[in-house]
Amino acid sequence: MELCLEDKITVLKGIGDKTAALFRRMGVETVEELLRFYPRDYDRIEEVSRIAELKDNSRAVVRGTICSGVSERKAGRLTISFAQAADESGKMQLSFFNMPYMKKMLKKGAVYYLRGKVHQRGNSFTMEQPVLLSPAEYEKQRGKLLPVYPLTTGLSQKTVRKAVTQVLEAAGKQKNLLPEVLPAWILAEQKLCGVLEALSGIHFPDKQEELIQAKKRLAFEEFLVFLLLVRKMKDSAQAVPNRFPMLETADTRRFLEGLPFRLTEDQASVWQEISADLTGEYTMNRLIQGDVGSGKTILAALALLLAVSNGYQGAMMAPTEVLALQHFQTLNGYTDKYHLPFRPVLLTGSLSAKEKREAYERIENGSYNLIIGTHALIQEKVTYHNLALVITDEQHRFGVRQRESFSRKGAGEDDSLIPHVMVMSATPIPRTLAMILYGDLHVSVIKQLPAGRQSIKNCVVGTDWRERSWKFIEKEVQAGRQSFVVCPMIEPSEESDLENVEEYTEKLRMALPDTLHIDMLHGKMKPAEKNRLMDAFERGMIDILVSTTVIEVGVNIPNATVMMIENAERFGLAQLHQLRGRVGRGDHQSYCIFMNGSDSDKAKERLEVLNHSNDGFYIAEQDLKLRGPGDMFGVRQSGILNFKIADIYQDADMLMSADKICGRITADTDWQEREEYRELSLLLFRSVRNNIDFPGI
Ligand code: ADP
Ligand code: MG
Repeated sequence: MELCLEDKITVLKGIGDKTAALFRRMGVETVEELLRFYPRDYDRIEEVSRIAELKDNSRAVVRGTICSGVSERKAGRLTISFAQAADESGKMQLSFFNMPYMKKMLKKGAVYYLRGKVHQRGNSFTMEQPVLLSPAEYEKQRGKLLPVYPLTTGLSQKTVRKAVTQVLEAAGKQKNLLPEVLPAWILAEQKLCGVLEALSGIHFPDKQEELIQAKKRLAFEEFLVFLLLVRKMKDSAQAVPNRFPMLETADTRRFLEGLPFRLTEDQASVWQEISADLTGEYTMNRLIQGDVGSGKTILAALALLLAVSNGYQGAMMAPTEVLALQHFQTLNGYTDKYHLPFRPVLLTGSLSAKEKREAYERIENGSYNLIIGTHALIQEKVTYHNLALVITDEQHRFGVRQRESFSRKGAGEDDSLIPHVMVMSATPIPRTLAMILYGDLHVSVIKQLPAGRQSIKNCVVGTDWRERSWKFIEKEVQAGRQSFVVCPMIEPSEESDLENVEEYTEKLRMALPDTLHIDMLHGKMKPAEKNRLMDAFERGMIDILVSTTVIEVGVNIPNATVMMIENAERFGLAQLHQLRGRVGRGDHQSYCIFMNGSDSDKAKERLEVLNHSNDGFYIAEQDLKLRGPGDMFGVRQSGILNFKIADIYQDADMLMSADKICGRITADTDWQEREEYRELSLLLFRSVRNNIDFPGI
């Protein structure tokens, strides 16, 4: 049977409707999407260690005989099962979280290859959550790099690996399945491998060199497609006449004079640029880049006020409900306090059908003139009355195409009625890269922080400082402050030793007095639940919030003074800097504890950059310097500009060559009609049609 890239994956052996539904949750419906569903990591199984030679905090394989029965203990909602295993050198403890079936499965006297993370206490070792392999299974995996895919509950690594293998085998036999996208001259000039080689290499690399080649080729392709898309937007965004001209009003002056603080010099000059755009000849298309805490929200408020007091509507979109709600409250507060002409509404996914209908109606007839919300703002059903300005906050959390559809939305039927666009981002990107990535935008930068901020005190410590750090947090809480703890994972998993929010919350509850209110927050929760928790944290009902990076964007909790980040080595510096920006927003001295779970010198060196600087732009430059190519394993580093495979920091040189090549291709305005670019244009077309988005910047 002939396979085709656009086929649904149910044509593959072993994938029925149920499995297909799981794949769909991961964004994979077609054969092409499956091929482009890249591993998030690779796993190489360790050689066997003797129990007596195990090291604390390391992952190991032990060939052990089960030498005890299984006992159980309850800890909160967790059930922990314990057993013992031995080899000729000694004994170790095994512990399993929430795996009650171990009681039946583990037979005394059975021999397993046990693989897991080892903890040492005194002279005794515990292997947490070990994976059990038969001798045959162990032999089969030795020496190989196995892909590790991001998964959803019910979908296993094995299922994904099998499905991908089937497609790759078919592509080997059926030459027309995977046409080459890049023309020969680009492959030759950039020394890139072909598409089939790249895709086999990214999924099943035989050795690391193959993986590096594969990644290089796919990253280049990803950059090129992205840049071709940006180039298109740039062409259509150039010098559009201002259809929503504005005049300076008394409202903005009154608002500025009433504020309890003065704008910083940077804020004031950016406000000059914004108001010159809005009152000028052409439609605004501007990015406001300012470090965390530099005070971007007030500029958004000013711009919205100018639009509204000129009789137009203005809208602001935020990436999470939590942040949208916070902006709504802030702007509501200003409206009351300074008698501003705003008539605001909050539009998010959690409104009831009836509330939504009412909101839509009053947005369409103009009774609301300030619309704040999540991407609910760009949904089909919203029609605006006279939307003159759209602002996107935390732009890096949205896709480039979402940004475009937000401005289209305002225009409605009439293409010439494109509103003014302002996007705000706290991602500090070195200038050389910014010029390429922000191709279609004018850029304003806020470098200073408002005066009087106490700078955050930092420390980078190993996991042996964990308990001392908890004590420190306890002390801060007793003094009336609050704290964040961030873990990279949500729940325990067999493949990862990284700290996870669920277990960590339990551990913390056990370690600290009951009087402390500890709760957790993560991305798998419903928006309403997240809002409730953030709200409780904001009102001081929660002392310590354990969470994933969902709290990274935007929230402003001035009473929080400690940010503790577990497995800090697994985050990019820019992202760590964002996380740190959640504290140090009030009058109290704030602290950031980077918990380094690795003993590599390189990780330490990177984290030291944060230890010594609180300046986002400097940190971004250092990140670029310290990160050489070839850092292939582990969690994606930048974490902020998430291309699927390329990384703007790590692959910065490639981004620059892709930009040059993009320029050469598009110098010929008819390039899309040329035979040699046929497959490339088709890929571009498919990605637009399937609404595949690129990271916002
Ligand atoms: P971000 O740029 O990270 O979005 P915010 O807009 O949330 O920062 O501002 C952080 C805090 O700083 C807010 O509480 C805000 O009221 C305050 N702020 C903004 N500008 C100034 C200023 N010029 N002087 C003093 N405080 C300011
Ligand atoms: Mg902000």
